[in-house]
Amino acid sequence: MVMKSTLLFLSRQEKLKNFVLGFEFAQRVSRRFVSGETQEQAIQAVKELNQKGFLTTLDRLGENVTNKEEAVKAADDYLLLLDKISQNGVGSNVSCKLTQMGLDLDFDFCFNNVKRIVERAKGHDNFVRIDMEDSPRTDKTLQICFALHREYQNVGAVIQSYLYRSEEDVRRLLEQKIRIRLCKGAYKEPKTVAFRKKKEVDENFVKLMKQMLKSGVYHGIATHDDKMIQATIDFAKKENITKESYEFQFLYGIRRELQEELVKQGYNVRIYVPYGDQWYPYFMRRMAERPANLFFVAKNFFRR
Ligand SMILES: Cc1cc2nc3c(=O)[nH]c(=O)nc-3n(C[C@H](O)[C@H](O)[C@H](O)COP(=O)(O)OP(=O)(O)OC[C@H]3O[C@@H](n4cnc5c(N)ncnc54)[C@H](O)[C@@H]3O)c2cc1C
Repeated sequence: MVMKSTLLFLSRQEKLKNFVLGFEFAQRVSRRFVSGETQEQAIQAVKELNQKGFLTTLDRLGENVTNKEEAVKAADDYLLLLDKISQNGVGSNVSCKLTQMGLDLDFDFCFNNVKRIVERAKGHDNFVRIDMEDSPRTDKTLQICFALHREYQNVGAVIQSYLYRSEEDVRRLLEQKIRIRLCKGAYKEPKTVAFRKKKEVDENFVKLMKQMLKSGVYHGIATHDDKMIQATIDFAKKENITKESYEFQFLYGIRRELQEELVKQGYNVRIYVPYGDQWYPYFMRRMAERPANLFFVAKNFFRR
């Protein structure tokens, strides 16, 4: 618990980020969880995953931008990415974070930036998932998601089962038939807004999963947790919900054998494929989720 909090704290330290990004060793280690620095490398990773039967969602790493130029550049990159997905005929949609689109700078500016992405995706008959960040941003993120869905439909939300508010958010999203990715949540949240105990987070996950699967909308169940996956499979079987009506989602490089096993069993599996040079906060959150991954980092440190 202390280790997790420390790693999540470090994930937000700008000075440390700049220091770590400079190390060649750190770049090499990040490749376990990040597909590459360029769009070409990311598309190549998607091709390989598609060949193995996976769907993917591509994420341009970056968050909490501090100026509008950076946010416009990030959105422009997503437009190019959507064009490349279409040109290469690969099976991928995109995921983006609103603080990369300028959410902390100006709400309307951010809205227009994401709107450009959703519009371009619509032109390619593709889909945009808006990732969920920490709780001070939940309301604004959902607000943008609802507004874009009203206009374009090809946009989906993320719900975190550690938040107390999530049941009500799921209800509102289902009312509009908005596609949801359900995850446990990756940020350090105070107990005023979020469950602290794993048991409670898991129980809420199962409860929300059931509401989502029964809705008839195509949702994503995003977890590496055997118990959550088994609960989903069992519930779907009991309710005669077919394998085609939902998908499992995993992060790139995590529990690869389980990913392959589910594909073998005929489930839809989508891999979240991050790319880009701004991997530090993403990488540190993965370390916080499973401090055992630090051994992997240590092993690589000595393999120079
Ligand atoms: C596709 C996808 C998209 C996501 N999008 C968001 C988002 O938009 N917003 C958000 O807040 N969070 C997001 N997350 C992260 C999520 O909230 C969790 O932090 C993360 O998935 C860990 O929770 P878990 O469900 O895997 O279960 P946990 O209870 O954390 O872990 C269960 C088991 O899974 C394995 N495992 C978990 N994490 C790792 C890891 N890093 N390395 C190796 N093994 C691991 C371990 O065996 C562990 O015992 C996303 C996760 C996925 C899979």
